[in-house]
Amino acid sequence: MLIKAYRFQLRTRSGVERLLRRFAGSLRWVWNAAIAEQRRRREAGEKFSPYAAMCRWLTEWRHAPETAWLAQTPIHPLQQTLRRLDAAYRRFFAGVGGHPRFKRRGQEPGLRFPDPKQFELDQGSARVKFPKLGWQRLRLSQAVVGELRNATVTCERGRWFVSLQLEQPDVLPSADLMPTLGIDLGVALFAALSDGRTLQPLDALKQQQRRLRHAQRAVSRKQKGSRNRRKAVNRLGRLHARIAAQRSDWLHKLSTELADQHPVIAIEELKVAALSASAAGTSEAPGNRVRQKAGLNRAIFDQGWAEFRRQLEYKTAARAGAVVAVNPAYTSQACSQCGSVDRGNRRTQALFACLACGHTENADANAAHNILAAGRAVWAARPAACGAEVSRARPARAQRAAAMKQEPTEATPAAPAGAR
Ligand SMILES: [Zn+2]
Repeated sequence: MLIKAYRFQLRTRSGVERLLRRFAGSLRWVWNAAIAEQRRRREAGEKFSPYAAMCRWLTEWRHAPETAWLAQTPIHPLQQTLRRLDAAYRRFFAGVGGHPRFKRRGQEPGLRFPDPKQFELDQGSARVKFPKLGWQRLRLSQAVVGELRNATVTCERGRWFVSLQLEQPDVLPSADLMPTLGIDLGVALFAALSDGRTLQPLDALKQQQRRLRHAQRAVSRKQKGSRNRRKAVNRLGRLHARIAAQRSDWLHKLSTELADQHPVIAIEELKVAALSASAAGTSEAPGNRVRQKAGLNRAIFDQGWAEFRRQLEYKTAARAGAVVAVNPAYTSQACSQCGSVDRGNRRTQALFACLACGHTENADANAAHNILAAGRAVWAARPAACGAEVSRARPARAQRAAAMKQEPTEATPAAPAGAR
């Protein structure tokens, strides 16, 4: 078993931060009060009171009227503080550490929740739940894999973070697994799959987008500071929330189905700029193709792709599989049959027709085939640590073909910067 730690920033609002500061203050108070009590008892000639005894003091403090406010802080982090203090005393008695010191403001220990029963992580909605704090949103920058062990909330320079420790199974993706699905993230479509399927965005979302535009216009028409404007703003906010919930539901169904069918999935690498822009809720034009088809779908897609990829990552990992990221360069211009790369191959937005071999196919499906082939090459070439001996022993045709597709030959003109 392997323990892996993750650290994410909490997206706290000011009210929650106030609460967290109060919790941290309680931890500091308990630490200091326990040191004072140990000192008082030692001076009275008593022996050291270990962790269990200190926990009884904590119970008394939480019930005493003058320190009843301690009961507003979750109990487990308070107990963990005493456990740490006990350990500090034991180091001191063993001669390997100094006498435990009083803590000042700003030196608070983290809020540690030692048992996964005490908190809950909802990766689908990027949020975490703690006792007396409720659900809080996280900047979940990567998929979390494994079994939750404990969580610690800390403050650093005014920002709050959650550290999670997870136990990961030793099983790595099996060596003889190969990517069996390639996904091309489309624009007219949400995505095209190498098995020939195309994924349309939810119609309901398109309708909602229209309503959203109406609601946005309504807000801009109302007078600033007026009651009607506030109402329109509220209506817009509710609509945003409903769209987000529908999109999330749709994406989860999709990603679960795909991860069930395909343990290893190849998908094009999303640009970091596009990712962060979507996180910020704004859109950016990643290329010509996007700009042509921009508009209605873009907001849906911008936010959907990154989330889709994140869901696929943790769902395939949970099934001992993986997502393989592929450089999307030329995947839309290369022929999935003969590997010839030519801008002219892309006759129209929808049609791919190879100038070299005459192969014709839906352009997005052709790109999905290329992504699958490139994904197989990347997967076969991954370090031996992941158990790639088997796949490396048989250099696949797909690998050579994909290598050709990734590199334009001298005879073909270089692709313009915006093309994929
Ligand atoms: Zn061809």
